[in-house]
Amino acid sequence: MAIIDNHSMRQSALFTKTRREAPKDEVAKNAQLLIRAGFIHKDMTGVYSYLPLGLKVLKKIEQIIREEMNELGGQELFLASLQNKELWEKTNRWDDAAVDIWFKTELKNGAFLGLGMTHEEPITNLMREHIRSIKDLPVAAYQFQTKFRNELRAKSGIMRGREFLMKDLYSFSKNEQSHFEFYEKTKTAYTKIYQRVGLGESTFLTFASGGIFAPYSHEFQTITDAGEDVIYVSREKRIAINKEVYTPEVMKELGVIAEELEEVKSVEVGNIFTLGTRFSEPLELFYNDEKGERTPVFMGSYGIGLGRVMGTIVETMSDEKGIIWPAEVSPFNIHLISLDPKDEVIRSTCDELYNAFQQMGKSVLYDDRDLRPGEKFNDADLIGIPLQIIVGSKNLTNGMVEMKERAKNMATLVPKEKIFATIA
Ligand code: ATP
Ligand code: MG
Repeated sequence: MAIIDNHSMRQSALFTKTRREAPKDEVAKNAQLLIRAGFIHKDMTGVYSYLPLGLKVLKKIEQIIREEMNELGGQELFLASLQNKELWEKTNRWDDAAVDIWFKTELKNGAFLGLGMTHEEPITNLMREHIRSIKDLPVAAYQFQTKFRNELRAKSGIMRGREFLMKDLYSFSKNEQSHFEFYEKTKTAYTKIYQRVGLGESTFLTFASGGIFAPYSHEFQTITDAGEDVIYVSREKRIAINKEVYTPEVMKELGVIAEELEEVKSVEVGNIFTLGTRFSEPLELFYNDEKGERTPVFMGSYGIGLGRVMGTIVETMSDEKGIIWPAEVSPFNIHLISLDPKDEVIRSTCDELYNAFQQMGKSVLYDDRDLRPGEKFNDADLIGIPLQIIVGSKNLTNGMVEMKERAKNMATLVPKEKIFATIA
């Protein structure tokens, strides 16, 4: 059973404040809205802290990914962020000429360390102690880990951080065939993840360049003008081709023609990669096969940027008033808004609803603050919880409360007794 976050709270106790303006130097819509709504704090360019509301969203995205990774047979671990220079020298990726986004640091004794920008080297190295014979394969292990990258342009808010949270899964198989069986399953798992976080419609399995082992890899690209990539997409066939590999051969291989493809801007919200023996050979991750022959393990890696997913949701699901969270990643299920907390009847009705919603298993943000209704409505629309329940004197006299779906920006009156059935 997954741990369900059912935490509810009174908004009067929430320390974060909403604000009218985003910092002047913030150009990305996702960061502007998330800062204004009090989800994140900008520490400096490309570096953001997650505040209580933002962390709730991030944790929900994390839990969805965790469930799908466990379903794949992935085992969660947590690797160190400080990395050993010698390992990276063995794979020829330490030098700035090979990898130009390293943050490196120095020990008191003068030795150098790297701040993890990815984890192929350390995980391959540690698997040497656990993978010995063919019986030990396949293995899949993953983590949620902060990555550090000295990104040249960090102008996309939490979609491109210099410090960011990534889910990275690594697979270890006995051979190419066994690898690709697993690789296909990860496509399905990723598709489910993007559906669950609310990006299913706008996200496409995308043919992309492979680099290390295979000539191609797969990306998951979400259509948005805030993206830095260009893809050619068939909405009907639900596939796309990254501009970098958009050639007649690739189109032929995928069975699509230029006329049915649409050129759009997009952001890479995840990728799956065949590594082959690129890391197992130099780092000596070998196993003994059926014949007792020393064979390099066949590897894959599979990434998802959690902040990038969250930023992409905000970019694609917001309006002039604020954010509109998909239900499964919303910081709370219900925003309960009391229009007059000083009124005894309103207060007791709201308290009663607050308790009853929690009993139903719903998490609630209860706006019990003594503020003008207009301010409360603006804050609620900015914060973006998908369902608002509004309790005011005029309607309550007639036994009614207001129910507003944030996405539709339309309120309907519901008899107080019927509200539970309506929500359920
Ligand atoms: P990009 O081409 O956008 O820089 P990448 O090819 O460097 O991405 P990977 O190194 O494969 O990406 O990382 C895996 C995933 O981590 C990406 O699919 C993306 O979702 C996320 N990601 C990569 N860089 C960042 C970043 N700077 N900030 C937030 N998320 C990122
Ligand atoms: Mg990159």
